[in-house]
Amino acid sequence: MQTRGYAATAADTPLAPFAFDRRTPGDRDVHVTIEFCGICHSDIHFTKNEWGMTTYPAVPGHEIIGRVAKVGKDVKRFTQGQRVGVGCFVNSCRKCGSCRGGHENYCELGPIMTYASVEPDGVTHTFGGYSRDIVVDEHFVLNIPEGLDPAGAAPLLCAGITTYAPLRAVGLTKGSRVAIMGLGGLGHMGVKLAASFGAEVTVFSRSPEKEADARRLGATEFVLTNNPATLEALAGRYDAILDTISAKHDLSAALNCLKPHGTLILVGASPEGVEFNPFPLLFGGRKIVGSLVGGIPETQEMLDHCGKHGITSDIEMIGPDQINEAYGRTLRGDVKYRFVIDCTKF
Ligand code: NAP
Ligand code: ZN
Ligand code: ZN
Repeated sequence: MQTRGYAATAADTPLAPFAFDRRTPGDRDVHVTIEFCGICHSDIHFTKNEWGMTTYPAVPGHEIIGRVAKVGKDVKRFTQGQRVGVGCFVNSCRKCGSCRGGHENYCELGPIMTYASVEPDGVTHTFGGYSRDIVVDEHFVLNIPEGLDPAGAAPLLCAGITTYAPLRAVGLTKGSRVAIMGLGGLGHMGVKLAASFGAEVTVFSRSPEKEADARRLGATEFVLTNNPATLEALAGRYDAILDTISAKHDLSAALNCLKPHGTLILVGASPEGVEFNPFPLLFGGRKIVGSLVGGIPETQEMLDHCGKHGITSDIEMIGPDQINEAYGRTLRGDVKYRFVIDCTKF
């Protein structure tokens, strides 16, 4: 099936228009006509081959919203015209313990990612949502609650679930104290979601101009991280810290801000890694955990939660010809707080 989109053909060249084939839809497949796709910082790491695993041509995009164009004869949960979402992965083994437990994101054979993977046939490369159409097994297609703005809902498929799943997993609830590090695409969703759970939210940021936004999004405190003494004064204060920073940094000062047994959740995927001093971990039995998006059942749970609470992402809509400029602006921190591509213009 022919479709079109934007692809990177090398690490150091701009993305450009690209025509390609999707697989022919099978009996259990949903053909989605894509309306909107968010730009995640992972798309940027990936197209620039910062993780050293990119194959070209690369069509990024895993915050996908669209309408069902057609369904295969065995599809049960979707009908033509319905609004749906597709997130970071499009298949998994469905037999291992993780898959059976609804954690397809941790499939023991490795999930098949929306881009940068090979389909179960072993030869077809997956291409992401910077495109007009996608074909996905119905198990990996999500329902989008009525009433949510569809463009603002696109980033929920990655930024939303990546912050929702670990904040739920650490048991964040009414009265918990949480800090969100880095107010970007993930960070701003983390603030909104943590606040919706009733937690007391602080933003740790290097950008003083974001303070008013942090408070509008639901934070009650804003801490500038540029001065180490500021964090020293917050020692032992937080139940959890969600670290969304996209570049190399040192975790030690933040670790020291956790209560005893508190958890720092690392979701940022810095290509150069992170650093930390062991002492704040040892004293207080604090923990660092990692988290990768979320399973299909919890992604649907997150979408339903957002539907109930009216939560979407703060977005700036762009056309395909602005993708390269949007990458540059995201890298400069000049985005409030997610670029979303109007995919009807591909
Ligand atoms: P983003 O919109 O660019 O936000 C990243 C934020 O980190 C920036 O807004 C900035 O916040 C802070 N930051 C950036 N560079 C920094 C530096 N050198 N030092 C200190 N702070 C810095 O990116 P995003 O889309 O939210 O993604 C964030 C990271 O999460 C990326 O690495 C991405 O690949 C990763 N990711 C992981 C998962 C997962 O499943 N684990 C899913 C999606 C994305 P302030 O200006 O407020 O300091
Ligand atoms: Zn992402
Ligand atoms: Zn599996």
